[in-house]
Amino acid sequence: MIEHPRIANGWFRELSDDHFPGQALMLKVEEVLHHSKSEFQDILLFKSAEYGNVLVLDGIIQCTERDEFAYQEMISHVPLYSHKNPKKILVIGGGDGGVIREVVKHSCVESVTLVEIDRTVIELSEKYLPKMSSAFNHPKVDVKLCDGFKFLKETAGLNSVEKYDVIITDSSDPDGPAEAFFQKEYFQLIFNALKKDGIMIAQASENIWLDLNYLKNLMKTSRSIFKNTQYCYTMVPTYTSGQLGLIVCSKDETIDITVPQRKPDIKEQGLLRYYNPDIHSASFVLPTWANTIINVE
Ligand code: SAM
Repeated sequence: MIEHPRIANGWFRELSDDHFPGQALMLKVEEVLHHSKSEFQDILLFKSAEYGNVLVLDGIIQCTERDEFAYQEMISHVPLYSHKNPKKILVIGGGDGGVIREVVKHSCVESVTLVEIDRTVIELSEKYLPKMSSAFNHPKVDVKLCDGFKFLKETAGLNSVEKYDVIITDSSDPDGPAEAFFQKEYFQLIFNALKKDGIMIAQASENIWLDLNYLKNLMKTSRSIFKNTQYCYTMVPTYTSGQLGLIVCSKDETIDITVPQRKPDIKEQGLLRYYNPDIHSASFVLPTWANTIINVE
């Protein structure tokens, strides 16, 4: 059996050390499929008893075959249906392929650029997560292997002709190679790289149960660049506390991103398991105490 420091007695254990030391999430392991250290991070793949194959980066669960659609659909379709006619899409991170699989479901999308820092994540996802990684060879998809922050700085800056309708940051948490994605400068780079009616979304790495102050500060950072910033969430049992926040911003201050600007057509509807226009709006509604801290104080 391949060993990993987070696996003991047949159970994988994800600790919430940094933000909430008294909590852990455990999944029963059937088989360890892969463990290595790439140039950027520790990569683990295992077959779990109940959630299918699981991808873990630096000890943190990134996705499982059973519940990944709840994350991939919301981080993709909330911004895409908030835009009237999204054609040019940029995905930063997203090496498991789940987000690009969702983005190409929109017939109006003409091109998708995916910027992933770690080639190994893509290769392992193609091997062990085939349903997630099915769109890597789609004709509309272009994959760039480099740092997303650098990419935005160098190729999608203020005077660039490369402007996007929607930018999705599907990154890992701030403790590893994705650290820069949670800083003010990154929000500014995204703002510059969007067209004037562009929309962006980023995983907020935290949820309302564990570190509300962190979320409040992240929202403040985002609002210092995008006046029109909102917080929504999705329910994913294998993310800590079962709830993950997403930060959604519109460059156009007059757009209400909590209301879809388009609805899925019949063909798109048949491809969706989590997203629908009702859950789009409902996902922005927060419990009173969390709303007060995130949106009012
Ligand atoms: N759904 C996951 C979550 O929030 O738990 C995240 C998905 S995972 C595919 C995130 C990806 O971001 C990883 O493949 C990682 O290699 C990539 N990534 C991290 N830092 C990056 C950077 N600086 N530039 C581009 N990709 C990065």
